[in-house]
Amino acid sequence: MFDKILIANRGEIALRVVRAAREMGIATVAVHSTADSDAMHVRMADESICIGPPPSPQSYLSIPAIMSACEITGAQAIHPGYGFLSENANFVQIVEDHDIAFIGPTAEHIRIMGDKITAKDTMKALGVPCVPGSDGGVPDLATAKKIGDEIGYPVIIKATAGGGGKGMKVAQNAADMERAFQTARAEGKSNFGNDEVYIEKYLTTPRHIEIQVFGDGKGKAVHLGERDCSLQRRHQKVFEEAPGPTITAEERARIGKVCADAVAKINYAGAGTIEFLYENGEFYFIEMNTRLQVEHPVTEAIFGVDLVREQIRVAAGLPMSFTQDDLTINGHAIEVRINAERLPNFSPCPGKITQYHSPGGLGVRIDSALYDGYSIPPYYDSLIGKLIVHGRDRPEALARLNRALSELIVDGVDTTIPLFNALLEDADIHKGSYNIHWLEHWLETKLADG
Ligand code: ADP
Repeated sequence: MFDKILIANRGEIALRVVRAAREMGIATVAVHSTADSDAMHVRMADESICIGPPPSPQSYLSIPAIMSACEITGAQAIHPGYGFLSENANFVQIVEDHDIAFIGPTAEHIRIMGDKITAKDTMKALGVPCVPGSDGGVPDLATAKKIGDEIGYPVIIKATAGGGGKGMKVAQNAADMERAFQTARAEGKSNFGNDEVYIEKYLTTPRHIEIQVFGDGKGKAVHLGERDCSLQRRHQKVFEEAPGPTITAEERARIGKVCADAVAKINYAGAGTIEFLYENGEFYFIEMNTRLQVEHPVTEAIFGVDLVREQIRVAAGLPMSFTQDDLTINGHAIEVRINAERLPNFSPCPGKITQYHSPGGLGVRIDSALYDGYSIPPYYDSLIGKLIVHGRDRPEALARLNRALSELIVDGVDTTIPLFNALLEDADIHKGSYNIHWLEHWLETKLADG
């Protein structure tokens, strides 16, 4: 096992890794920009090292700065968290070349899944069900129109290098194709330096269901069920739960096995998430994330496992500490993302926290790097905390969420807390009847009502 690991991240996820490492008796190195000298992850780690000025390209995204920090502190492994360099195959290649362990999959697997066409081709070949669409890239508008007619409108045009909801355009009909095709291409080119696009059938009322997988890198893999992350705004998740309110045990076992077998076949190492759209009882693969997800705690809650501990074990060459048969679901868990944002536009709202009180009690977990008097810097993501509740069933988890939110105080900046209070008053949330468009419609209606 490693003696010391470096965490190439900040905020709540850096803290999350510190906590797992400490329980395993492993020392941690925090890296930070000058804007984060007083951050909680820096205070909680055993050692810290400043790697540059506030803008991420010069600090948290600077490969030379992070490699130097590793060299200076003698860390034997790097945990990337999520975001930043976590899915950068070039970075992982450099880490591998320096004989430092990367706590995550190989550079090759990250490369395959980072290109959406290659990812889809790979998954299809591994027996994973995909959204009907073009076979690979679509070279020109005439071909795009031909495919549109074949699969039927509406269709979605996606940049193969896209991510974070960018480079995706829906064409409602043939007349709409030119605009959608050219805009998706242009967004792919300007945001990701690649104008290749492909086409998929646009599903009108799907849920977003993702399967958590875990591989040992040596041909063994398990699945840890699904998370339903359908409540999204601009393709960004805001509320996640496990298990999915509409997924049956048979469906879970079937799609879970397909996913575990797929990653076992490619000797995948560590945590991964296979994302699907789910409509009328069918799963359609959209992408694989080769890292720990923001919403991983809901899976940890219902399975009683520590996914970060498991990631570290596998990176150190140890076997996974559970088999598929050991993994049984206990109860229901929900996570809400507390962002420093001003409603109704969700504009970022950095600033000083004048008062902070975190909820507690049975079945309540807070993953946050906040503290009284902390100043949220304006340079990074607006996520400031995650509230995770666990109950014996979904109604109990919802009641607990309501209770925990009533205890939570974050003063000094605007947050998304009022959004969750309002959502908990909606009957659809209690019924679990929502799809990926539900929240956008709900927000429009609420705003129209004032
Ligand atoms: P990104 O990498 O930008 O996050 P994804 O391919 O994961 O892109 O898609 C993000 C979101 O876009 C999905 O969760 C879903 O809401 C929507 N989406 C993607 N593909 C389709 C599709 N074929 N039909 C309907 N909605 C889609």
